Amino acid sequence: MDTALLIEKLNQNHALTKSEALQLIREGAEYKDKLFALAQRAAQQSFGRNIFVRGLIEFTNYCKNDCYYCGIRRSNKNAARYRLTRDEILECCRAGYALGFRTFVLQGGEDYTYSGDDIAAIVRAIKQQHPDCAVTLSIGERSRETYKLWKEAGADRYLLRHETADFNHYAMLHPAELSAANRQSCLYTLKELGYQAGAGFMVGSPYQTAENLADDLMFLQKLRPQMIGIGPFIPHHDTPFKDEPAGSVELTLVLLAILRLLFPHVLLPATTALGTLCPGGRVLGIKAGANVIMPNLSPQNVRGKYLLYDNKLHSGAEAAEALELLKKEVAGIGYKIVAARGDYTEESWTQG
Ligand code: SAH
Repeated sequence: MDTALLIEKLNQNHALTKSEALQLIREGAEYKDKLFALAQRAAQQSFGRNIFVRGLIEFTNYCKNDCYYCGIRRSNKNAARYRLTRDEILECCRAGYALGFRTFVLQGGEDYTYSGDDIAAIVRAIKQQHPDCAVTLSIGERSRETYKLWKEAGADRYLLRHETADFNHYAMLHPAELSAANRQSCLYTLKELGYQAGAGFMVGSPYQTAENLADDLMFLQKLRPQMIGIGPFIPHHDTPFKDEPAGSVELTLVLLAILRLLFPHVLLPATTALGTLCPGGRVLGIKAGANVIMPNLSPQNVRGKYLLYDNKLHSGAEAAEALELLKKEVAGIGYKIVAARGDYTEESWTQG
C-alpha cells in the first residue's frame, strides 16, 4: 500500500501489521509532516492542549545489573554512587508538590539495599503526605509478591521499558543473566496487578534493525501498556558501547508519531534523552504526539550523578524548579502544563 494511504489507515484503525509497521519505520521520515500533524491532532483529541508533568526522583544509582548500554552498570567503577534516604525522597516530594507536581516517579538502579519493605514504606509515606498524588516506580525486575506489596502500599504506576522485544537483540544488549522473557513477563504481571504499566525501548540501540522496531510495535499492540517511554540511545564513555553511534532524533520523532496514532490515549513522554540529543527536543516530541514531560526533581547535589549516558540534561528547563521555563517553552507552541495526576483514561481528558 502507498505509505500516505497507510498513514491514513493507521489514523483510522489504530492498528498495524508487522509488514505495515516495517514500511512506516522505513519510509515514515519522508512523510513526517503528515505523520506529525495527524499525531498531534490525535493527542489533542485525547488530552486537549494539556501536558502532564512528572517529578522524576532518581533515588539511587547503585545497580546490580550490567546492561552494556547503561552508565550506571555495576562494572562502571568510575560512577560516583549515591543513595537517597527516605527523608531526602520525602523532601523532594514536598518541594515538587509546591511546584505543582502531582505525580512522583521514583527511578533507580536495581539496588537491593532497599528491601521490598523499605520501598513499600517510602511509597506509603509519600501517599500519606500527598494523598492527591500518584506514585510511579521504575526500579526494574522484581517478583510478583514484591510488585504486589508495592501496589498495596499505594504505588499507582510502574515504568519498565521492555528495551527490545526481540530475544536475540535483547541478548546483544544485556548479560546472560538478564532475559527478554523475564522482562516481558514482569510487564504482564504489573498490568495484572492493576498498575498503569509503562513499556518502551531505545531507538538506535546497537545492532537494532528496522525489523526489531517493527517487533517492538507488535509487542506493544499485544501488551497494550498505559504508558510508553522511548528515546534515542546515547553512548556513555564508560560502557562497552562507548563507540557506538547515538540513535536518530528524526526516527525517534517518527516513532513517537506512529505510537500516538496506534495508541491515541497512551501516556507518551518526550524524554530527557530526546532533549539531550537535540535542543528543543521535548517541544519537537510534543509536536510529534507526546503529552508528558518528566523534569528532574532529584536533589541538586546528586543530579549530575545519575548518568545513564553522556551529557544527560539535568539543568535549565530539565530541572523541576525551572518549571516556569518549561511552561514558557510549551506555551510557545500553544500548550499548557497542568497540575494534575494525569492518569491513563480512554475518555477525552478535560481538566477536572
Ligand atoms: N533500573 C530501572 C531504570 C532504568 S533507567 C529499570 O530497569 O527499568 C531508565 C531507562 O533509561 C532504561 O530503561 C533505558 O531504556 C534507558 N537508558 C539506559 N541507558 C541508556 C543510554 N545509554 N541511552 C539512552 N537510554 C538509556
